[in-house]
Amino acid sequence: AALLLTAGTLAGCANGTDNTGGDTGGNTANAKIGLLLPDSVTARYESADKPYFEAKVKDLCPDCSVLYANADGDAAKQQQQAESMLTQGVKVLVLDPFDGEAAAAIVASAKAKSVPVISYDRLINSADLSYYISFDNEKVGELQATALVQKLKDEGVQPGDGGILMVNGSPTDNNASQFKAGAHKVIDASGYKVLAEFDTPGWDPPKAQDWVASQITQFGSQIKGIYAANDGTGGAAIASLKAAGVSPIPPVTGQDAELAGIQRILAGDQFMTVYKALKPEAERAAQLAVDLVNGKTDKGDVTVKTKGGADIQSFLLTPVAVTIDNIESTVVADGFYTAAEICTAD
Ligand code: BGC
Repeated sequence: AALLLTAGTLAGCANGTDNTGGDTGGNTANAKIGLLLPDSVTARYESADKPYFEAKVKDLCPDCSVLYANADGDAAKQQQQAESMLTQGVKVLVLDPFDGEAAAAIVASAKAKSVPVISYDRLINSADLSYYISFDNEKVGELQATALVQKLKDEGVQPGDGGILMVNGSPTDNNASQFKAGAHKVIDASGYKVLAEFDTPGWDPPKAQDWVASQITQFGSQIKGIYAANDGTGGAAIASLKAAGVSPIPPVTGQDAELAGIQRILAGDQFMTVYKALKPEAERAAQLAVDLVNGKTDKGDVTVKTKGGADIQSFLLTPVAVTIDNIESTVVADGFYTAAEICTAD
C-alpha cells in the first residue's frame, strides 16, 4: 500500500489504515497517558487530582487509559515510575515532581522518546516542558500571611508581644519557595517578627510536628501565630500545640481546603486555609494531555520562566482564602464538598 503518512495526514492515522509502520503519533486508539504525583502524605492527590484527571481523560478520550503512580516523597522512585511508563509506551506524561530539579532528568528521558511532558502543579526546571499548569503560588503565600497578620491585629497583638513561626513546605518543591516568598513579603512589611522558620522535608507532617514542638519549648507564649504552608503541616502544628497544652491555640494557617482542615476551622482549631479549585486544574491538564495525544498544541494563558530561564506555556488558576466566614460560599458553593460531607464529624 502507498505510504499515506505524510504531513497533513495525521487525522487519517486514527482510522488505522495504511498505518502498519507502528507508532505515528496522533493516534488516540488505546493511547496511554501517564500521571505521576509526588507524595502520599497530602490528601489532595488521591482524593481529588487523580480522580478528576482520570474522569476527564475518559470523557475526552474513551479509548485512552491513564497509568498512575505516586512517588511517596521519593525522587528516585518517581524517576523509576516515569521510566517504567515510558517503557510501557505512554504518549504523554503529566508530572507533578517530588523534586523539581531532579525531575529534569525525567523530562530528558521523555524527550528522547518524543513524549511531551506537562508540568503539573509544581514547576520542573527544564526548558523542554510542553506546558505548566498550576495556581498563582506567590498569591497563595500572600493570602495566608495577609489573613494571619490581620488576625493578629484584630486580636490586638503588638509586635513587641512575640512573633510568628513559619512552617514552610518542602525544599525540593518550587511551589514551596513561592508560598514562602509571598508570605514573607507580607509578614516582613507587617512589623511582626518571624521567631523561627523551617522548611519541612517532603511536606511530611510528623517532621513539622516535631519542629513545632521544639519551638514551643523554646518560645512558649511568645508564639502569637503559626504560618503553616498547607493543611498537613498546619494540622501537625495544631497537634503540637494541643500536646503541649497551649490554650487558647494561636491562629494557624493552611492550604488545600482538605476536609480535615475545613473541619478544624469549624471546630475553632485552625484559623484559615486556601482553596485551590483542583477540578479545573486536573481537567485542564487532562485536556492538554489528550490534545497532545492528538497532535494538537494550545497556547498558554501566560508564559512562566523556569529557573533556567526558559519560557513555558502556562495556565495559572486563582487561589481563594477560606476562614469560618466563607466556607459555604467557597468550597461548598463550588461543589468541592457537600455540607453533609463536612458535617459528618460529631
Ligand atoms: C501543592 C500543595 C500541597 C503540597 C504538598 C504543593 O506543591 O501545591 O497543594 O499541599 O505541595 O504536597
